[in-house]
Amino acid sequence: MSGVTLKKVRKDYGSVVAIPSLDLEIENGEFCVFVGPSGCGKSTLLRTIAGLEDLTEGQIVIGDQDVSDRHPGQRGVAMVFQNYALYPHMSVRQNMAYALRLAGEPKAEIKKKVDRAAEILGLEAYLDRKPAELSGGQRQRVAIGRAIVRNPKVFLFDEPLSNLDAELRTRMRLELSELHQALGTTMIYVTHDQVEAMTLADKIVVLRAGRIEQVGRPLELYDDPVNKFVAGFLGSPSMNFLPARWADGRLVLEDLEGATLSMAAKAPESGKAIVGIRPEHLEIGPEGAPLKLRSVEQLGGVTYGYAILPSGQEFCVDLKGRRDIRAGDTVTLVIPETHALVFDAETENRIRPSK
Ligand code: ADP
Repeated sequence: MSGVTLKKVRKDYGSVVAIPSLDLEIENGEFCVFVGPSGCGKSTLLRTIAGLEDLTEGQIVIGDQDVSDRHPGQRGVAMVFQNYALYPHMSVRQNMAYALRLAGEPKAEIKKKVDRAAEILGLEAYLDRKPAELSGGQRQRVAIGRAIVRNPKVFLFDEPLSNLDAELRTRMRLELSELHQALGTTMIYVTHDQVEAMTLADKIVVLRAGRIEQVGRPLELYDDPVNKFVAGFLGSPSMNFLPARWADGRLVLEDLEGATLSMAAKAPESGKAIVGIRPEHLEIGPEGAPLKLRSVEQLGGVTYGYAILPSGQEFCVDLKGRRDIRAGDTVTLVIPETHALVFDAETENRIRPSK
């Protein structure tokens, strides 16, 4: 088992700078998730760790070994791809055994390793089947099994659940989490899905345009984002953002009929801010800012109300299980100040209250 350290990692594709310069420490045994929108560089980063892409500059250390110039097979990593990459003509057992056979391991040893992986993944009954005779979830399990038998120092997952339907994705997510607990091995996982990031990670790395926006535990990032990008990326439905301006030490929310929030912080020069508030933190009270709901979504356990604000901004409120509220109703909204986050309207960085 080993941690992974990235030092000043840079990756160019010709004139495209995919990753300008990135430093990151992943602890031994940690489940680390790279998350961000399409094109932010998460696959590139994973592939450079795997050795499938050459580094332009910088260093990659796995355990205490600098592996920057090593061939993928010599890095002690095993990668699981979105498209499974199984050999169609081979049985499940042969697929899982393939890399070990190539490495010339004794037959008895290979059998032991494949049987153990099959047991961990619940694949014992499928060892003689071909990939075409398996469901999507089972195929992905075989791909994971192929990584497990190699006993890597680090597992690398590149969007492994994207090809599965929603229900299976949820189940495989739980299985992956249990697998990590059982093996205790360092895992690095790439996804654009913030739910996977929130539920799987010990540590989330939020990327944008090849740069790290924030690193931390899931709830740390959820509760205490450093900027509007991270705040908006994590959470579903997303955080609401309201244009605001400073007036006499208070923040005025024009979109909510001039409702104000007290904010003991230094206003930026422009005097303009963005107030962020999550749907679940809003309350419906006897008094507050009126909000006319365009639509109401009843999900059984939760109910969401949606509105379009005068600025054109979409707005979502968790109606806390209230089932009597309908589309077209006007609710009175209370914004608890303790949960309102404030961002500079220009830089979009967080403005924290002064102590
Ligand atoms: P993500 O995995 O977050 O969707 P990628 O790592 O695939 O993002 O891509 C990061 C950036 O690098 C993008 O701008 C993408 O267009 C570029 N890129 C990725 N692979 C190549 C390549 N082989 N050649 C040129 N540009 C590439």
